[in-house]
Amino acid sequence: MKIYDISMAISQDMQVYKNRDAMRPQLSVMRDYTDSNAYESQLSMHLHTGTHMDAPLHMVQGGDTIDKLDLSKVITWCKVVDMTEVSGGITRQDLEGKGIEKGDFVLLKTKNSFSDTFDDEFVFVEKSGAAFLKEAGIKGVGIDSLGIERSQPDHETHATLMGEDIPILEGLRLAAIEEGRYFLLAVPVRIADAEAAPVRALLLQNDPMDS
Ligand SMILES: [Zn+2]
Repeated sequence: MKIYDISMAISQDMQVYKNRDAMRPQLSVMRDYTDSNAYESQLSMHLHTGTHMDAPLHMVQGGDTIDKLDLSKVITWCKVVDMTEVSGGITRQDLEGKGIEKGDFVLLKTKNSFSDTFDDEFVFVEKSGAAFLKEAGIKGVGIDSLGIERSQPDHETHATLMGEDIPILEGLRLAAIEEGRYFLLAVPVRIADAEAAPVRALLLQNDPMDS
């Protein structure tokens, strides 16, 4: 079975949103073999750093938290859609004619996947693109930027998707992935009452139950 890891490695020097130091993960060794017979470390990180999933609470007051996520939405077939020709916001026109159907989990592969440094002009889902995905009745959406939107002060993209309980997966790495159908495993860490959580996102070529 071919397994594609589409998540970012967590490290101190990884790209973080707007290069903010507060978003940088801190991994510290609590004990090691120099003075102990075991190795233990501690990680401190922002929940929107690296590959992660947003829950409705992130943008909707009183919205559901990440631990309430229906896992059948994130262990599922998905479609990787090539958006590498798009600059700026992905619009309705960009998504039309791409074979996006009701019940799809859509992963948007953009130019973002080809850079390991944060770009202020990263490709995002513009509000008309979010409206298209909502109307199509998708099950979930993923993108290779650290945020699914920017430059939209009212966060219409988050609000549109979260209003439909559509999980949003951010910070994917899709450079090596060709457009097509894959089995997605994108289970967020079960953090009680949180608005987001880190994900180790994987794509499989086949249904794991078949092999
Ligand atoms: Zn986020």
